[in-house]
Amino acid sequence: MKAELIAVGTELLLGQIVNSNAQYLSRELASLGIDVYFQTVVGDNLSRLSEAIETAAKRADILLFTGGLGPTQDDLTKDALAAVLGRGLHIDRVAMDNVEKFFQGRKVPMTENNRRQALVIDGATPLANETGLAVGNAIAHDSKFYILLPGPPSELKPMFEHQAKPWILQHVLTEERALYSKMLKFAGIGESGLETRLLDLIEQQTDPTLAPYAKESEVTIRLSTKAASEVEALERLEGLESEIARRLPEHLYATEDVPIEKTIVDLMTEQGLTVSAAESCTGGLLMQTITSIPGSATVFLGGIVCYSNAMKEKLLNVPHDLLEGEHAPGAVSAETAKVLAEQVRMIVDTDFGLSVTGVAGPAYSERKPVGLVYIGISRRDGDTEVLELNLKGNRDTIRLRSAKTVLYHLWR
Ligand code: ATP
Ligand code: MG
Repeated sequence: MKAELIAVGTELLLGQIVNSNAQYLSRELASLGIDVYFQTVVGDNLSRLSEAIETAAKRADILLFTGGLGPTQDDLTKDALAAVLGRGLHIDRVAMDNVEKFFQGRKVPMTENNRRQALVIDGATPLANETGLAVGNAIAHDSKFYILLPGPPSELKPMFEHQAKPWILQHVLTEERALYSKMLKFAGIGESGLETRLLDLIEQQTDPTLAPYAKESEVTIRLSTKAASEVEALERLEGLESEIARRLPEHLYATEDVPIEKTIVDLMTEQGLTVSAAESCTGGLLMQTITSIPGSATVFLGGIVCYSNAMKEKLLNVPHDLLEGEHAPGAVSAETAKVLAEQVRMIVDTDFGLSVTGVAGPAYSERKPVGLVYIGISRRDGDTEVLELNLKGNRDTIRLRSAKTVLYHLWR
């Protein structure tokens, strides 16, 4: 079942309003398992609107229109569709009552053009407008389906939810199959790296489908399938999911849409472990990230932001020789990251001590390049792991990636 959305309105073409109706409808249709192949925007112009309808009818099974159902001269959607289908228009009694009542209630005379809001294409089902006046239309014609919805989102949404959706379920989706999705979350790997390792699966996909996308230093894969029930869907997704898990065990940290800090807080809570942090270039972002998770209080005990060298020395006992002097490794170094992680772990008395020190940019520091970051993870009964990162991006991205990378290595 292929759908096309046609948003009607010159305001859209002029960039005066955003086509949020298309986003809303696309999302709703996806949840019904209907694929939207095209979103068209056309102005309030009869011939171009007719052209858009004719084109869409060639490539889609179901056409959804928004806008142009109002009373004025530029509201042409019903006229255009009626003409293309070779059908007439008539006033719907119930819709007309609704319009008349509105004007009686307001005690203002109704102008003649308002009758247009009660027009229905011959043979169409009127779709009641709960929050406005213009009646919607739904019609099957030549094994295609046409649904006309009003432009204002406050009218469109209730009409879609209460009128159009039930109509679609009854007339269009004879077999009720909805789209089910499952999210897999990965850390420590970029979108392209992940794609490379799953390329054959991505290329082969038909059903289930597999779509990776990256957000805030984490990569998500959405697995989707159309099924009659969730149980059926999950069964079908299982094979693909375990194949992906088999290939990327060191990166797959969750099988639901959660950030890595949530996984960490949950794991540490379960195991009764605690963590602390010493942050330089991230200025507290790592702690902020961990503590954004409800329930992190039993896991995260505290930390220190040691932005200046003086504070690294004073609060975290980093030796002066390490930080300053001609041959000193400097604040941005593996040596400093190690001391910071070990010291904060001992000072706060936790199972793990984390540290971040680096150059977030935009300017160089200690003659070291932007994006050079050292992270440390100190373990109560084990070694201190120190990693050098060479991150790309602007200041915000580098800081966020630093924090997320520490969490990723802690998880591993
Ligand atoms: P009205 O009865 O208000 O005239 P209508 O169905 O004729 O409604 P339009 O005249 O095309 O719809 O648009 C009315 C208003 O609805 C626009 O000014 C805009 O605020 C909003 N609107 C229209 N189309 C969209 C869209 N695609 N996305 C978001 N908002 C929209
Ligand atoms: Mg209008």
